[in-house]
Amino acid sequence: SSVADKFKIDIGKLIVEKTKAPLAKPADKSKLVFGKEFSDHMAEVEWDSEKGWSTPKISAYHNLSLPPSASVFHYAIECFEGMKAYKDAQGNVRLFRPMANMERFQRSAERLCLPAFDKEAVIELIKKLVLIDKDWIPEGKGFSLYLRPTMIATQKSLGVGASSSALMFVIASPVGPYYPEGFKPVRLLADDRYIRAWIGGSGAYKLGSNYAPTIFPQLDAAKKGYQQVLWLLNDQITEVGTMNMFVFWKNNQGELELITPPLTDGTILPGVTRDSILQLAAKWGEFKVSERAFTMSELARAIKEGRVKEAFGAGTAAIVSPIKSISYKGEEYPIPIDAAKGAGPLTSRIADTIMGIQYGEIESDWSVLV
Ligand code: PMP
Repeated sequence: SSVADKFKIDIGKLIVEKTKAPLAKPADKSKLVFGKEFSDHMAEVEWDSEKGWSTPKISAYHNLSLPPSASVFHYAIECFEGMKAYKDAQGNVRLFRPMANMERFQRSAERLCLPAFDKEAVIELIKKLVLIDKDWIPEGKGFSLYLRPTMIATQKSLGVGASSSALMFVIASPVGPYYPEGFKPVRLLADDRYIRAWIGGSGAYKLGSNYAPTIFPQLDAAKKGYQQVLWLLNDQITEVGTMNMFVFWKNNQGELELITPPLTDGTILPGVTRDSILQLAAKWGEFKVSERAFTMSELARAIKEGRVKEAFGAGTAAIVSPIKSISYKGEEYPIPIDAAKGAGPLTSRIADTIMGIQYGEIESDWSVLV
């Protein structure tokens, strides 16, 4: 069969086997803990280097059965995505820039020698899953159904090599607002003993293997009273926890600037939220918007000189996460925070705008009706 056939996923043949034992929906949506409960159904498509992608299937959420020799268990040949389905005030279901997630998913798969796939077809599959589990999308602004598209290498082999078989699956988890009671600004620990990603490494891809080694430094920071790690690379600021890092400051030239590290060296995960913020801020045209490398030393000096107005992390989970201080080489660097709101005006405005788009209150082609 041709290359095109191998990439094809025939969504027209989708098999749907609805659950015979529907699960109880979360009793109290205000008590949802991220990623602990899952909806009734999941989507699956298998791939084989000879046959290409199998007929996609949606069935009851279930355990997987895999041989212990499957290469995912030995060499972490796994990549994933994180995206959400939202229910708007009219009860319509919406996705936010799903193609951006599919493009990143594709790049991650390619980095692991996992197969290419028809991105439109996977979006269709996700839409079908979300509609079948529509009642699992908690209502209300800030609530959503978190979607976890995943691809794993299933080849029975201990050889370090490209897998001749794979499984793509999508599971869904109802989640609540990241900040149920207004923003909670975080304290960061910039600890240069740990490096998340480096030049020539895989930081720009969403691979499970990028995350496993981050848990130890995260716990270490938490023990010291910090909520997140600020990841540095040779003093350069890269990311914060599992979010992209933004600073709103008066730069060395005295210009008002929103800055985030560039995607050029391969150490930064290209966040969908990051890209959305850059596009929005450029459209507003009220200050300089830069994708440019900057260092912790520069940031520390700017904080000391009172030039830093706001700093925040950006990602699907929280949209934005305001930062109130950074600990670096034993010194605390405080960042201004509006005490009443818990975030600066730009941080709040970005959160309001993106959330408005996600829930269909602000017209935008970023919000895709399901
Ligand atoms: N950086 C890292 C390391 C991440 O894991 C994430 C979450 N996917 C992000 C940034 C933010 O990406 P997004 O805006 O697409 O959620």
